[in-house]
Amino acid sequence: SLSDRLGGVFDRLRGRGALNEQDVRDAMREVRVALLEADVALPVARRFIDAVTEKAVGHQVLKSVTPGQQVVKIVNDELVAMLGGEEVVGLNLEARPPVVVMMVGLQGSGKTTSTAKLAKLLKEKQGKKVMMASLDVNRPAAQEQLAVLGEQTGVATLPIIKGQAPVDIATRALQSAKLQAVDVLMLDTAGRLHVDDALMAEMKAVAAISTPQEVLLVVDSLTGQDAVNVAQSFTAGVDLTGVVLTRMDGDARGGAALSMRAVTGKPIKFAGTGEKLDAIEPFHPGRVASRILGMGDVVSLVEKAAAVVEKEEAERLAERMMKGQFDMNDLRSQLRQMQNMGGLGMLAGMMPGMKKAKAAMAASGMNDKVLVHMDAIIGSMTPKERQRPELLNAKRKKRIAAGAGMEVQDVNKLLKMHQEMGRAMKQIKKMGGLKGLGALFG
Ligand code: GDP
Ligand code: MG
Repeated sequence: SLSDRLGGVFDRLRGRGALNEQDVRDAMREVRVALLEADVALPVARRFIDAVTEKAVGHQVLKSVTPGQQVVKIVNDELVAMLGGEEVVGLNLEARPPVVVMMVGLQGSGKTTSTAKLAKLLKEKQGKKVMMASLDVNRPAAQEQLAVLGEQTGVATLPIIKGQAPVDIATRALQSAKLQAVDVLMLDTAGRLHVDDALMAEMKAVAAISTPQEVLLVVDSLTGQDAVNVAQSFTAGVDLTGVVLTRMDGDARGGAALSMRAVTGKPIKFAGTGEKLDAIEPFHPGRVASRILGMGDVVSLVEKAAAVVEKEEAERLAERMMKGQFDMNDLRSQLRQMQNMGGLGMLAGMMPGMKKAKAAMAASGMNDKVLVHMDAIIGSMTPKERQRPELLNAKRKKRIAAGAGMEVQDVNKLLKMHQEMGRAMKQIKKMGGLKGLGALFG
């Protein structure tokens, strides 16, 4: 894996303070191989490496990890950023209905299947009234294929009239969708084996008359080096709004995701994960990044090392939590730790129990800004109040709120969170207890 490769490159560097240019170049040679093995298109890999090199040179190496591990973390962060950040982007349906979603892509990329999958999702998860129409007059029985999928999903399809041109079918679909008060009209277009002018002209004409709100490029994640050409041609031909990456269930290493995102500049919105009609998921950049590099372990290791708080302090806190002694001083220490670790986002997914704790925090209205506010609230408590939050009556709460420049309800939120955390900690205890927590903060 890339981890091993980089380990070799950096073994001789153990203990140095910062990454220098030559070290980084050596490492990037290995990263490049890993990217190409993951099917990232060559020009995209090159661009990516330039970006990472710039970030990595001069970067301080954390005490407890090797330079190789540090580089992996930098590479991973840049990958996640290039794949769209932490954010999961869904469909934008904010328009007057019928909102048109147009699916484009090469033949066999999975357009028709994805059309039905998305229609099913919109119908079942969002309660939308959906209609599908096939504009594929090239492939024999393509329209019938969509009709069958319509029956399977319970989504209406436009009745087939043979001999109509794609643009005429689109016009008819729009009329029909309006008449039937359809919320979302999905247009499944024809593909070709390769991008050609005739296909592009057809896509443009259909887009012109249907003014789609979403134009989704459907791409097989096994596309590999050809991904760049496909993305460039479709980007030049129509105004894409996003990408659907299919066959992520196969042995694809996810490289096409990076290529697509880099060339189209559009978010990857969904990933197809099988032939079944519910095998579609929102696209998660973080997961695909670790798939490309194949090294989630190293990344979380470095994340843990990046926690500024000493391990002993974390264990002390954990122990107090388990014993039910977790007071406001401890909570404050914890809040600061979270801030140092890069806020709440960082905590997600590092260990099973943390998801629960995080959900509890979210439920009590917690976000990164709130971390700072809560710190201020605890700051205006007396030492005694911090040790024994149960002392806080209405009068004390009012004083504390005023002292922190906050409202009494903010104080109440903090107290509630303190309780919720106590409860979440009990859950963690059940799931593995102190050892698990130590690993999280250590
Ligand atoms: P189109 O020509 O772009 O309309 O492609 P189709 O939707 O007809 O799909 C072609 C083939 O790929 C079909 O056999 C689908 O079942 C299959 N397919 C589509 N999406 C996926 C996916 O996410 N995973 C897998 N394993 N197969 C898929
Ligand atoms: Mg099709």
